[in-house]
Amino acid sequence: MLGKSPAWQDAGGACSGYLVEAGDRCLLLDCGNGVFGKLRAARDFTQVCAVVISHLHADHFIDLVPYAYALAYSHQARAAGSRPALYAPPGARETFRRITGAWQAEELIEDAFDLHEYDPAAELALDPMQLRFHEVPHFIRTHAVQVREGGSSFTYGADCRPNEAIVAFARDTDLLMLEATLEQPEEAGCRGHLTPAEAGEHAQRSGARRLVLTHMSGDHDLAWARAEAVRTFGGPVELAHEGAVYDV
Ligand SMILES: [Zn+2]
Ligand SMILES: [Zn+2]
Repeated sequence: MLGKSPAWQDAGGACSGYLVEAGDRCLLLDCGNGVFGKLRAARDFTQVCAVVISHLHADHFIDLVPYAYALAYSHQARAAGSRPALYAPPGARETFRRITGAWQAEELIEDAFDLHEYDPAAELALDPMQLRFHEVPHFIRTHAVQVREGGSSFTYGADCRPNEAIVAFARDTDLLMLEATLEQPEEAGCRGHLTPAEAGEHAQRSGARRLVLTHMSGDHDLAWARAEAVRTFGGPVELAHEGAVYDV
């Protein structure tokens, strides 16, 4: 767990960023603000084999910018000759070009990484891990991600409002990580996030064995949030915190 904050990180914290490891392979799931520094503290960034991005909100990808500079210019990356694969949603290449094009570095990210826009309908093999995607409703096109290895699975709901898609996609998963951004449901306009009680209720219906709540501000009452999710889930609930490790 490199970062678990919502769109603004806690003091000393980071937004979404999750290292998933199996065998000697390691992939980074999301790369929000603050994540690259956390990655450097935890692992050699030149050894990450792939980065996978759930959606194109800044708190899920903006640290690809410093990561790309490190791959392009650092001694370590030059010595390692590393160019990690980057799997990002359809349209990502254009979004990255627009952002880094603001300072005339349009190809910064696609040059540093081996960029692929994934097909959400297709499975992705990152041996020994198998990934699949499923669209979930949020403010922009967003994909939940499931990682399987051996007989085990980990499912990440990304950002989403209440929905049936994640319940079906996460069916019987060993570890389900859901956002619990809100203390109260949004009252006006389109919903985009979950409360802790809603996350627990979705996990309960999916048959997930364990639930981790993430995308939460450290300013929230975390004991209340956990109790809310325990009440609706009825199984083990953990609150994401930076540095946490979960074995699946
Ligand atoms: Zn989002
Ligand atoms: Zn987010």
